[in-house]
Amino acid sequence: MKTFPMFLQMTGRRVVIVGGGEQAAQKARLMLKTDAQIVLVAAVLDDELAAMVTAGRAVQVTTLSVDVFRGAALVFVGTGCVGLDYAAHALAKAAGAVVNVVDQPALCDAVTPSIVDRDPVVVAIGTEGTAPVLARQIKSRLEALLEPELGGFAALAGRLRTAVARAIPRAERRAFWDWAFDGPARAAYARGAARDAASLLKAAISEGGQGARPGRIALVGAGPGAADLLTLRAVRQMQQADVIFYDRLVDPSVLELARRDAERVFVGKEVGACAWPQDRINAVIIAAARQGKQVVRLKSGDPCIFGRATEELDAARAAGIAVEIIPGVTAASAAAASLGHALTERGQTDRLMLATATCQPGDPDPDWRSMIAPGTTLAVYMGVARAHQVVAGMRQAGVPMGLQVEIVAQASTPQERILNCVLGELPEFIALQAVENPAIILIRWPKLRQASLHQIAGHCA
Ligand code: SAH
Repeated sequence: MKTFPMFLQMTGRRVVIVGGGEQAAQKARLMLKTDAQIVLVAAVLDDELAAMVTAGRAVQVTTLSVDVFRGAALVFVGTGCVGLDYAAHALAKAAGAVVNVVDQPALCDAVTPSIVDRDPVVVAIGTEGTAPVLARQIKSRLEALLEPELGGFAALAGRLRTAVARAIPRAERRAFWDWAFDGPARAAYARGAARDAASLLKAAISEGGQGARPGRIALVGAGPGAADLLTLRAVRQMQQADVIFYDRLVDPSVLELARRDAERVFVGKEVGACAWPQDRINAVIIAAARQGKQVVRLKSGDPCIFGRATEELDAARAAGIAVEIIPGVTAASAAAASLGHALTERGQTDRLMLATATCQPGDPDPDWRSMIAPGTTLAVYMGVARAHQVVAGMRQAGVPMGLQVEIVAQASTPQERILNCVLGELPEFIALQAVENPAIILIRWPKLRQASLHQIAGHCA
């Protein structure tokens, strides 16, 4: 590290800003967030800076001298004139001050970081000048993760620290604070219910922190593969989890978003395999929640689309365990993004059907005729291994064999493949191209128009 981050004490200290225009105003705006006394050194101040002086938030000094810099916590120089900046820098250094000169890295003892301000929670981001855009990206991610009300909540927690130290034994304090910052109190504060949040915290304190955190289960959509397709809510859940149960389709990069010490359990559910039958998965997630754990059940795509969510929801509710669903990007949406076109098209396909080709054992084959008609896009999940049956069923149902089919395998991942064929050739095409799971099959039957009718008829033979 060429620079080292520190939080400077500002209360009761002076910050000197040399300059009276916009550069100085930018620094003054930053310093207004602090408790420091602001000294503006300039003969003339712009309206904004002058207003700060009028409001008593800053004082103006019109002559530049070494003395003005003595004892300052920080000095900013931004006069807009390079010569004057150099002169002010020299005087400030003579006074032994820590100096920052706007746009002159060589003259800076200290640089201002990118800041995520949830005062008193403050995150400072620096890249030592190598990647300002990256700093901005990191900042916007953190802004999204740290709700605007977090500062107020942290301040409330700060006011309760003494009470916590008095009421809760040392060994349990960490668990209490974990609960406080991850649990319902923070959530209540974030939605504007500050009084509820305070009541929750105080009730837990008066109960000695015991039982403050009942176990719960979140069925979390992990999206199609790419980690940055998770929702912010999904990431938050993963960072609060004690244990994460995931299966085969969840990409390892997604698991990296989990809290570092969260336990990760592979419940390797493969289609048709019975190493981890659904009952056993239900049993383990419920057992973990009963131990008071925050359980994340990660499911690929959206948990409510061909994800057997109902079985896990029912089992949790039957056991009296709080359970919630965090939606995710389903494979059909990811496939559309990869293809670069929409799943529905006005005037052509105004119906979108999501279907699975792999039903419960013993069930009859899907009734394809009821699913696809002119004006439909049909997204077939779990269809690769059953392409023969799908096409045979559709042929029997009178679906034209010339319909365009798109196959997107491993959508959103580096291994993504996009392939096209016509419906009648799908099984052979899949075999020939060695298409592997997971892959989704999109079949489009646009509304009939004269031209397309001829095309389709040509393939019907
Ligand atoms: N809940 C998931 C679907 C689970 S069923 C969702 O909403 O996406 C598993 C099927 O989803 C796979 O057989 C495949 O058809 C599809 N699928 C899942 N991930 C995929 C991906 N990255 N690319 C293409 N298809 C995918």
